[in-house]
Order: sequence, then C-alpha cells, then structure tokens
Amino acid sequence: MKLGFVGLGIMGKPMAKNLLKAGYEIVAFDVVKPNLDEVVAAGAEAGTSAADVAGKTDIIITMLPNSPHVKAVCLGEGGIIEGAKSGSIVVDMSSIAPLASQEVAAELAKKGIEMIDAPVSGGEPKAIDGSLAIMVGGKEEVFNKVKDILLVMGASAVLCGDIGAGNVTKLANQIIVALNISAMSEAYVLATKAGVDPEKVFNAIKGGLAGSTVLNAKSPMVLEGNYKPGFRIELHIKDIQNALDTAHELSVPVPLTAQSMEIMQALKVDGKQKDDHGGIIQYYEKLAGV
Ligand code: NAD
Repeated sequence: MKLGFVGLGIMGKPMAKNLLKAGYEIVAFDVVKPNLDEVVAAGAEAGTSAADVAGKTDIIITMLPNSPHVKAVCLGEGGIIEGAKSGSIVVDMSSIAPLASQEVAAELAKKGIEMIDAPVSGGEPKAIDGSLAIMVGGKEEVFNKVKDILLVMGASAVLCGDIGAGNVTKLANQIIVALNISAMSEAYVLATKAGVDPEKVFNAIKGGLAGSTVLNAKSPMVLEGNYKPGFRIELHIKDIQNALDTAHELSVPVPLTAQSMEIMQALKVDGKQKDDHGGIIQYYEKLAGV
C-alpha cells in the first residue's frame, strides 16, 4: 500500500522509515530538503508538495510542529485539499490544539476527505523503535481502516473519542510530563545543595513510588547535563499554551500548568528554547546557584 507522509523532522523521519521497513511504499514531502532527502535515501518517493503527495496516495500522514502548520499543509495553497481524492484519509499525528483538529477536519469533510487526529507520546527513541503511544480522535470506522498502519509506528493506539479527542489526550499527557520534569528537577537540585549526588537519588528512588517513565527517560540526560533534543522546550511551550487556551475556554483552573509555562518562558528568555525539555532543570540550578 502507498502512503503519503508530510513532515519529516525529529519524529516524522523515523516514523516514515519504520513504515518503509514494514513494506509500505511512501510518497514523502518536507519543506526542508535534507529532511526529505534522508527519507528518500531510505526508499521513499519524493513528492513536490502536500497536494502532490495527496494526489498519489489515499492515506496521508502528517507530522508537523503546530496548528498553523497543519492548517497550511491541509488547507493552504499546494495543500492536501487541492490534491486529495474524495474518500482519502488524513492521519494527523502532530500535537496541535484540539479545536484546530476539528476545524481542519470540518473543511476537509466538505471535499469528502476523512481525518483523524493521532498525536503520539514517547519521543524520538520510541519513534525509532516503533513503540510510540498513539492517542486517537475520530470516527471508529476510519480509525479501524488505519489501525494497522498506526501499530507499525506505535505499541498502542487508543481511540479516545471524536475528532480532537486525541489532542485533548495529548494535552493531558504534556501537562503530566512537564510537571514531572519540574518535580524531578526541583528534587535533584535540592539534593545537590544538600550534598547528595542526584545520581544516587535516582538509583535509590527509581524502583519506588516516585519512579516513572519520565524519571527513567530524562534522568540520564539531566545527570550528564546534555540537553540535545529530543523534544525541544519550544515545542513543550506550544503544547502548554494549547493546554492553557483549552482550559481557559472551558473555565478549568490549571495552576500548576500555568506555573510550568512560566518556568519554560524563563528558560526561553535565557535562550534555551532549543534545548530538550530535560533542560528544565537549568531554571532551578540558576535559582539555587548550583
Ligand atoms: P520538527 O520540528 O523536528 O519536525 C517538523 C517537520 O515539519 C520539519 O521537518 C519541518 O520542516 C516540517 N514542516 C513544517 N512546515 C511544513 C510544511 N508547510 N510543509 C511540509 N513540511 C513542513 O518537530 P518534531 O519534533 O518532529 O515534532 C513534530 C510533532 O510531534 C510536534 O507537534 C511535536 O509536538 C510532536 N511530538 C514531538 C516529540 C519529540 O520528542 N520530538 C514527541 C512527541 C510528539
């Protein structure tokens, strides 16, 4: 089966490569040529635009930074809507505002194009080994048509509700991850100031109640002080902004989420927005003079 794939960054590249390894043919497109070239070298056909990709395939996967990029790729000039046939399916795996998913899906539906939102969690390592956690919103019959494809890229794919529900779930995920990294950072800096090696803290607590996937995934980079992304702080700011917007629209107070936004804004002011979000600890180190 021939699939379209638009957006070949840190996540899209390994996801597309896993689909190629599983035997799918891919027509790919990215505005950054070296990203496209890498996936073409792995066996994909190069598309010339999102419309071109959509014209050559029936299922088009998108993995883009945020809502405006998804709107442009799906609905803009040279976008999917120009090339896709009625009955095509857009599988948007980007993490975007739930409202944006609903708006894009409604526009595509006018041309008979189906869409599901299917953002992921697990970062680059799980994108590489095909074990992402995938959270889906959309019609059950559309989900069932693409489930096997999703399970090449992920270890799980759970239908959470109608269109937008995948991105609501992703916002929940991003709140939990941001607060976990902040809690871990606060704790490690306190331990350091108290004269206890944070590596010892990690090894002692990882099997207890404080142990978590976040602790296991982020502690090694924090202990090394190596914040090569991974998941950039600027992308986490985007997700937390989407979470705050959604919460405020629904009159849901999210005080800790708001606090984590201010922490990441302070890091951005320090020029650290391209660091991995494990680099949140640098905020606490600066405050405490570590
Ligand atoms: P990235 O910035 O590395 O990749 C995005 C890609 O989209 C880039 O290659 C860019 O050139 C391309 N792009 C942008 N606009 C385009 C357009 N108009 N047409 C074609 N291509 C276009 O980002 P990423 O880290 O791969 O993240 C992608 C999405 O996945 C984001 O929504 C992010 O929040 C989410 N996500 C990332 C991670 C992670 O660890 N990096 C983990 C889970 C989810």
